[in-house]
Amino acid sequence: MEEPQLKGVKVRFAPSPTGFLHVGGLRTAYYNYLYAKKQGGTFVLRIEDTDQTRLVKGAVENLIETLHWAGIEYDEGPELSKKDSRGENGPYRQSERLDIYTEYVNQLVENDYAYHCFCSQERLEKVRKQQQEMNRRSQYDKHCRKLSKEERMSRLDAGMPHVIRMKIPEDDGTVEFSDKVRGEVAIPHENLDDQILMKSDGFPTYHMANVVDDHLMGITHVIRGEEWLPSTPKHILLYEYFDWEPPVFAHLPLLLNEDRSKLSKRQGDVAVEDYREKGYLPEALTNFVALLGWSPGDDEEILSTKELIRKFSLDRINKSGAVFNVEKLQWMNGMYIRETETDRLVDLAQPFLEEAGFDTGNRRKMTLIIDAVKENLRYLAEIPEVTEVFQPTPLNIDTEAEPELGEMLAKDSSKQVFAALADQFEEQEEITKDTFMAIMKSVQKDTGVKGKDLWMPVRIALTGEMHGPELPAVIEILGKDLCIKRFRDQLG
Ligand code: GLU
Repeated sequence: MEEPQLKGVKVRFAPSPTGFLHVGGLRTAYYNYLYAKKQGGTFVLRIEDTDQTRLVKGAVENLIETLHWAGIEYDEGPELSKKDSRGENGPYRQSERLDIYTEYVNQLVENDYAYHCFCSQERLEKVRKQQQEMNRRSQYDKHCRKLSKEERMSRLDAGMPHVIRMKIPEDDGTVEFSDKVRGEVAIPHENLDDQILMKSDGFPTYHMANVVDDHLMGITHVIRGEEWLPSTPKHILLYEYFDWEPPVFAHLPLLLNEDRSKLSKRQGDVAVEDYREKGYLPEALTNFVALLGWSPGDDEEILSTKELIRKFSLDRINKSGAVFNVEKLQWMNGMYIRETETDRLVDLAQPFLEEAGFDTGNRRKMTLIIDAVKENLRYLAEIPEVTEVFQPTPLNIDTEAEPELGEMLAKDSSKQVFAALADQFEEQEEITKDTFMAIMKSVQKDTGVKGKDLWMPVRIALTGEMHGPELPAVIEILGKDLCIKRFRDQLG
C-alpha cells in the first residue's frame, strides 16, 4: 500500500560532528531528505555538538560540504562557516542553544521529573564494579534521588559539582511506543537508567538536547540509525514529562560488513570522504546507500534521486541489517561512469590523470583517454592503473599467460606489418585518424596482409591486449613516436 501524503512533515539529520561523515550517516541524511521531498516537507540539519570532549576543528564545515557534494541540500540549518542564519528555528548548532536546555531542565527539576546528583566519579565507579561483581545491570543506584531537600540545598549552596538526572518511574510499568520499522516496542521501567540530562559543565547530554530540539524545531518524524533505539524509551518519557507529543520514530537497520559484523573501518572504508577521494560519483553513492535497508519493491537498482523521491516510503524499510557490499558499489559506480558525459568525467578525472603523470592541459588528449578507458572503469582512482598502457614506459606483454599474444606477434606477416607501419609513420608530421586509416590501407596493399592478421598484431604491439578501445584513438593518445617505438620493439 502507498504511504499516505502527509501535511507539514519535518525531519532532521542530527549528526555529532566527529570529523568525517560515515556512510551510515549519509544513508540517514539521504532517507530524511528523500522523505521530506516525497512529502513536500522540510529537511533540517542540526549539529549535535554538545560533547565538548569530541570536538574536531573544521568538522562542521566538512560535514556540510560533504552533504552538498552528495546533493543533499537542507531547508533549515547552519550556514557554511557562518553563524546560523537560515530558518526560523535556529540556532542549529546545539552549542549555541545552551540557555534553552538550562531552562527546560530546570522545568523538569521543578516538576520533580529530574534531580541533582552530586556523586563523584570514584563513587560511580565503585557502584559499577559492585554491580558487575553481583552480575547486576550496571545502572546508577539512585543515591542522590533519596537526598532530602535540605541536604540538596546545602550542597548546591556550597557549590558542589553536580549533574542533573531524569527520574525513571520506580514501578513495574513499561514505556511503549510504535516504531515505523521495528513495530511495537515495550521496555520495562526497571531496565532504564536514571539518565544524566545535564552534565556538570552545564552542557546537556544528547538525550536532553535531542528531545528539546526535536520538539522546538517541530520535527514530526525521527528517522535515525538503530543504535539509537535503546535511547528512545528515555526520549518518550521526556516527551511525557514535558507534556509534548512525541514524533513518529523510524529506526534504520544496521550496516554490516560482508561477514555480517557491524560495519567497521577495519574491513574497508566507512567515510564518505574516502569514497569521494577514490573517485566515486555522488549520485552512485547515494543510489547505493538508498538500497541499504530499503527497496523499491521491484528489481530496479539504478535509481536517480528523482525516482527515489517518487518511490521512497518508510513502510519499505527493512528490519534486518544491510550488508555493505563494496563490489556492488563499484559495479554501480561503473554504470554511472558510463552514463556520465565525457566532459564532466574529464573534469572529475583531472586529479587522477595528473597523478598518472599526464599533461592535463591537453584537453583533447585527456578526453580521448577517458573515452578509451571509461568502459572498464569502476572508480576514478583506477585511472593511473588502467591508463598505464598510454605511458611511454615499455609495454609488458604477458605472453606466458596468453600465448596467443606471442604467437600473433611472432608471425612473419606481423613483422612485415610492423616494419611497414614504422616506416610510414616516420614520414608523417603527426598521425590522425585519417592518416592512420590511409596508412593501414597502403600497408595492406604493400604486404598483402589483411583482416585479423593485419589489425590484431597492431593492437597487441600497441596495447599488449587483444581487446580494448578503438585503435585510432589509441594511436592519437600514444602519439607518433611512441607508436613507432612499440612497432620497432617487436622487430628485435
Ligand atoms: N547526534 C546523534 C548522532 O550523532 C543523533 C541521533 C538522532 O538522530 O537522534 O547520530
